[in-house]
Amino acid sequence: MAHVKLHIPGPVEVSPKTFQALCRPAIGHRGQGFKDLYAGIQPQLQTLLSTKQLVYLSTSSAWGVMEGAVRNLVTKKVLNCMKGAFSDKWFDVSKKCGKEAEALQVPWGSPIRAEQIDAKLATGQFDALTLIHNETSTGTMSPLAEIAALKAKYPDVMFIVDAVSSMTALPLNFDAMGIDVLLAGTQKAFALPPGLAVFTASPAALAKAATVKDRGYYFDFVEFEKNAKDSMTPSTPSTPHIYALDSKLGEFFAEGLDARYVRHQTTNQMLRDWGSKHGFTLFPEAGFESITLCCFNNGAKPGGRAVDAAKLQKLVKEQGFLIDGGYGKIKGTTFRISNMGDETVESMTPLIAALDKAMTQL
Ligand SMILES: *Cc1c(COP(=O)(O)O)cnc(C)c1O
Repeated sequence: MAHVKLHIPGPVEVSPKTFQALCRPAIGHRGQGFKDLYAGIQPQLQTLLSTKQLVYLSTSSAWGVMEGAVRNLVTKKVLNCMKGAFSDKWFDVSKKCGKEAEALQVPWGSPIRAEQIDAKLATGQFDALTLIHNETSTGTMSPLAEIAALKAKYPDVMFIVDAVSSMTALPLNFDAMGIDVLLAGTQKAFALPPGLAVFTASPAALAKAATVKDRGYYFDFVEFEKNAKDSMTPSTPSTPHIYALDSKLGEFFAEGLDARYVRHQTTNQMLRDWGSKHGFTLFPEAGFESITLCCFNNGAKPGGRAVDAAKLQKLVKEQGFLIDGGYGKIKGTTFRISNMGDETVESMTPLIAALDKAMTQL
């Protein structure tokens, strides 16, 4: 069957070059070859996240580290900032980890604002919060810098941030923000195949984790730090993914990070322009739209042209592109298209043409 190119907001399309990188010969994960591989990419990962902390490699999807962060860092009560399917789920996950948890819920499509978090933290009940920077289910980006600035007021609260669908698409200055955990699964904006997550933790987070007794084994942050100091991982990693990450980071720095950030803005603008041309409004609140995907209203709002999102998806798929027909409770009333990863103006142009053609067939 012919390949249908992924423009869903993750997993995203993986290039042949990246797939080839997975095929380098097998090596042992305790040998010098592996240490050289990890040590080679460590400075690039640190530059990417603007951090002096070690960046860890977790053979898991993002949820492994998201759950792990809760287990490692919550002893009192966690504030789960909720604005869409993934961030809402973090509340359930916290409770499933046996933690005291409270929801800070805003309507889907709204961002989380610093003053809302401030009001909750002022109660003194919380020792951690979870936040999703770019809520992929709704295409909404919360103002991370504004929220991170609260850390100065609440130094003992662990700020755990998911940047799964934004990391590599815009600058994330971990040390300067002063937050405690920053994580991403690499099948989104990194454009690797699913199966690897990267994360980093502040000295305060590592110190706190060391005092937490039931932090578990597989995602024990103390073990990650200890092993990373020797350029190793606690358990056997997916070495092929790390080869692919090495290849990918090479591409990032050859292009230049700033150029990469601009490229994401440009390709996202192509989608926004396409949407406006056809009368589609964006689902997120104005000013908080993602730059790695567009979540469009299917036209149910005034002035928009109502379309059957499932039918649009099918018509675009017949032309070789997979877009998303909406996620969770906004499935059917929204649809999402991703520009994450390797996408360029050239690679997006055929997608836009396919979308245009589909609109004539609806
Ligand atoms: C996809 C996604 C996740 C979940 O990632 P998995 O890799 O499936 O564990 C979490 N957060 C965000 C923002 C996502 O987009």
